[in-house]
Amino acid sequence: MESKEKCGIVAVYNRNANNKEILNEVFLMMNALQHRGQEGCGISFIDKNYKFNRFVTQGLVKDLFSIRELTENNLDIITLIGHIRYSTTGSDEASNLQPFVSGTIDGKKIALAHNGNVVNAYEIRTKLMEEGHTFTTTTDSEVILHHIVKTYNKTLNIEEAVSKAINEFVGAFSIVLLFDTQIIAFRDKNGFRPLVYGKKHDTFYFASEDTALKCIEVFEIEEVKPGSIVIIDEGEKKEIRVGVNNLSHCIFELVYFAKPSSTVFNESVYNFRYECGKALAKYDKDKKFDYVVPIPDSGFIAALGYSQASQVPLGTGLVRSHFTIRSFIQPKQQSRDNVVKTKFFVADEVVKDKKIVLIDDSIVRGTTMKRIVSILRKHGAKEIHLRIASPPVKYPCYFGIDFPTEKELIANEMSIPEIANYIGVDSLKYLEVEDMMNILKVNKTNFCNACFSGKYPVEIDKNKLRKDIFES
Ligand code: SF4
Repeated sequence: MESKEKCGIVAVYNRNANNKEILNEVFLMMNALQHRGQEGCGISFIDKNYKFNRFVTQGLVKDLFSIRELTENNLDIITLIGHIRYSTTGSDEASNLQPFVSGTIDGKKIALAHNGNVVNAYEIRTKLMEEGHTFTTTTDSEVILHHIVKTYNKTLNIEEAVSKAINEFVGAFSIVLLFDTQIIAFRDKNGFRPLVYGKKHDTFYFASEDTALKCIEVFEIEEVKPGSIVIIDEGEKKEIRVGVNNLSHCIFELVYFAKPSSTVFNESVYNFRYECGKALAKYDKDKKFDYVVPIPDSGFIAALGYSQASQVPLGTGLVRSHFTIRSFIQPKQQSRDNVVKTKFFVADEVVKDKKIVLIDDSIVRGTTMKRIVSILRKHGAKEIHLRIASPPVKYPCYFGIDFPTEKELIANEMSIPEIANYIGVDSLKYLEVEDMMNILKVNKTNFCNACFSGKYPVEIDKNKLRKDIFES
């Protein structure tokens, strides 16, 4: 699958504790969320001398934690937020790196890290600009920050400022704020994107996925509830419920984005994908295959489920290299072929003269899949039957997943037999929407599946999105 997630966030509150390991723990947490974005990352924190700091870099979390001033100064941290950004074609990428920072009328610093995408950012940005605000980035996240600072400057009450933002912004936002010496976390009323927190000794930790907390041995984990604010101040936790709409957790977090070691929206990602694979196998009761072959890594868990349910052995016919490089000296087409050829290698024992059932989590454009199938054919596969562990992605997402435009979504433009023909497989089946939703153990009406069904949980006025101003 080829789409991208819009970001991961973390936060730590260590004010009354004496945890010297914070920076190392933040590295581990952010590293655990690297799959949510690879373009850049950053942290803002207040150190023991109450000095505000900000470090951002393009590249990976390991690059951020190689910055000398960060690693060599033995910094004691009392509050911190961090952000991992997805890759984009935005014009001025460095300026869009988060956390974003602003100052309040009473001289406090406020920093924000955001995961999601709000759909009425343009309207609110226009109003703020008419009032004299200026913006230095092309992100909806900066609009949220200005909105909060504006309300705070009038009321000197951060709870009121955040509540107002939750009430006025529409769409997806899981946010952590560093406000002076407090950490404030909140989610939109629909609960589109995940956000959890936990406590170890006297330190509080927040992250987009619980796997980031479990990897630093924080095991008592709770959700920041949709439409709620969690404030950590003076070592104490306070929760404020602002209100909820119809819950609309993103099912694509379970299908693809979240790490298989995570539980999101109280659903195990691993179990969900495994059950999707088992459900797919039911469509093929009368078929005989030699091997179930996962597209690594995205199709692996569904393939395990398919193999278990069908009793067809799992064969790693495609071996993935984790050291891919992009070559820019070749013509575009050849370069794209090379990306696939440097990433996937074929184990002939599993493929040559075999009838294989190829499993992936989803298809977006279909171009990568077409290249993979072509390579398998060249290695002598007798039959290739493609099974997709989610329904066809037919509609764009406006809530923080960077799908291409409708026209670039292959399932929006072609029927299933046409897609099979384009990709070059002998047969193609997708998981039905209803079968996928029935796998959920929690209330299935609490989920958004608009990219599959076209039923958007909030009203979308495409004319007001202004993609020409905001990056996707
Ligand atoms: S449209 Fe799809 S990707 Fe976007 S929030 Fe809904 S389920 Fe998730």
